[in-house]
Amino acid sequence: MGEGLETLLRDLRRGRPIRMLIAPAAFKLLGNLDKVLGFFRRLGVRSFHPVLPYADITLWAYFTLLKESGGLFVCSACAGLNLCLRERDPCCLAPVYSPLLCAARYLRTYRFLDGDFAFLSPCQLKEKEFVTPEGENLVRYNVTIRELAGFTAPGDPELSPCPALKPEQDDFCPGLTLAASGSVGGALGALLPGKKFVVKRGLAETVSWLRGQDSHSNTVLEAYACPGGCLYGSGTGQKSKAPAGTESPEPGGGQAAARQRAEHTEALRRLFDRYTRELRFADFCYPSHLPTV
Ligand code: SF4
Repeated sequence: MGEGLETLLRDLRRGRPIRMLIAPAAFKLLGNLDKVLGFFRRLGVRSFHPVLPYADITLWAYFTLLKESGGLFVCSACAGLNLCLRERDPCCLAPVYSPLLCAARYLRTYRFLDGDFAFLSPCQLKEKEFVTPEGENLVRYNVTIRELAGFTAPGDPELSPCPALKPEQDDFCPGLTLAASGSVGGALGALLPGKKFVVKRGLAETVSWLRGQDSHSNTVLEAYACPGGCLYGSGTGQKSKAPAGTESPEPGGGQAAARQRAEHTEALRRLFDRYTRELRFADFCYPSHLPTV
């Protein structure tokens, strides 16, 4: 189970080495994020890492499994939905770490970063995934955006002397998948032309879709429990503004756009080839469900 803001502040005061992972929602919703990061740097946080680019590793793991899968494949980075599906129908759930856990695993195991990770998070439930089934605490602190927004309001005199800071960039994960396309289908569709990609947001809509179809063969479902997805998760303090998702959008027309898409697909293929050479697949999956790849 994760610890919250109060424990994070206490442990920073005690000099505990801590690094921060940042959800996409924090970039969208915290107008003073750069000052907030400067504030945490002053308190001793060693480094800051956006989570979204590390979805490249998550989608590489999905892609690796999807090449062999013919049935329904549920890609979900949603802690709430995963809890629900693990109870009801664990077989269809991809046994892949979320982008958050992929980021923590990569930074700890491949970049050898020391200390604990704190997550600047859209969701209280995210802490349910912090500890792996083997007992490794990949992420320790779950600080929700709502909690932090109340603590560090824009114009807060505590923040004004703090330097404005940007999080680190990492060439190993350039953000060619979810960061570029916004959905699993948008990112992987060109590499897996035989698959149908569906997006569902909201628990009721997702469950109804899962129950309502006879056949889900060759279908990839990307699902979120919150109607607005993680950008408007329960821990953000925001009401949903995002439209309900259905199918992944068809790509736009035009030769230049088609050429750009082809170049992007080639770059993604090269990136995934590199991951296959340099990453250990099992480091990013739940071992109890680990398939043979
Ligand atoms: S969709 Fe909602 S419940 Fe799921 S991880 Fe995001 S914020 Fe949490």
